[in-house]
Amino acid sequence: MNGAAPVAAGIYVHLPFCPYVCPYCDFAKWPYARRSAERYLAALEAEIAASPAVRGTTMFFGGGTPNTYAAATLAELIATLRERFTLPADAEISVELNPDLALCEELPALHAAGVTRLSIGVQSFDRDELRRLGRRHAPDDVALVVGRARAAGFDNVSLDLMFAVPGQTEASWSDSLERAFALGIDHLSTYGLTVEVDTPYARWYQREPGAFFDDEREARLYEIAIERAARAGFEHYEISNFARPGRRCAHNENYWRNGSYVGLGVGAAAYLDGVRSTHTRDLDAYCGAALAGSVIPGESETLVGDERTGEATMLALRTLEGVDTREFQARYDVDFHQRYGTVIADLTAAGMLRIAGERVQLTERGRFLANDVCGAFLGGH
Ligand code: SF4
Repeated sequence: MNGAAPVAAGIYVHLPFCPYVCPYCDFAKWPYARRSAERYLAALEAEIAASPAVRGTTMFFGGGTPNTYAAATLAELIATLRERFTLPADAEISVELNPDLALCEELPALHAAGVTRLSIGVQSFDRDELRRLGRRHAPDDVALVVGRARAAGFDNVSLDLMFAVPGQTEASWSDSLERAFALGIDHLSTYGLTVEVDTPYARWYQREPGAFFDDEREARLYEIAIERAARAGFEHYEISNFARPGRRCAHNENYWRNGSYVGLGVGAAAYLDGVRSTHTRDLDAYCGAALAGSVIPGESETLVGDERTGEATMLALRTLEGVDTREFQARYDVDFHQRYGTVIADLTAAGMLRIAGERVQLTERGRFLANDVCGAFLGGH
């Protein structure tokens, strides 16, 4: 012990089991099986006991489908994590939910366990799109789940919606957005469908590329989301995220600020003391190592110099606030304008970036091409 105060960090917990597997999905996930789920929980508890002592700030249960576990099990896990990471009593604790009605019966118990925020994987309100995405809930189930969440006391409910789904139209996407806002939600995440290698969707794409959206048509759907969200009074606070005032996701904001976080579970990523690490995505290898008290296999890299500042820039540019150049100087000892002068000038001239006082931000146009803009900062220009 050197007596230094423990680092403040977000706590991410990956719960990888799903009631079924969606054909586009590339996450670390497996169909639910009781014995695997129990073994995984024991492995997770072993990893928690052996994990670094940080001061937890927020907690996020992602998946997979966290609500394949019973609320009582999640409550015990939360109590263990709270104790291990000394989380403040009012900390944001998010849980991703599949809106399958049978999996959403225990929302009062989740609320009582200290969960403060629900993130519901809706993807679409269109029956055909849901079917094509392999999702088994019905559009009307979502209203029931949001109603149950409100009745249970949740005042921070987020929905995920997906655009550029094969067969989707501007009208069906607008309708999904309207139905989401009509439910009085607090937060919305929208993601463009990406075709990931080795998924059934990748094979579909090979057979029938014309069924998928090109960049231009996809950008139009994104534009519609931005317009509708603004009309509903939501702040577009990150490229893919919209929130009512005061309802941003604190856990994810910490990622974009390049803050520290612990990642627990199979495939989970962490960023601590400048080291970015990712656990193996092999379920058996993860469980075996955690249960044996061995180092969990995976990859890690230490980000230094340009890599570190490039990554910090890429993350900050995703947000409404952009890069705070004064804070950047204080934190990384780098003069942002001096270091990236050429790339800032080029992207500003191209209408992708703007300078607002001490801040450098994406313009609306820049948001549509965020990957290219951010890539320019990573490319060491
Ligand atoms: S999209 Fe979600 S529910 Fe579907 S398989 Fe992936 S993690 Fe599971």
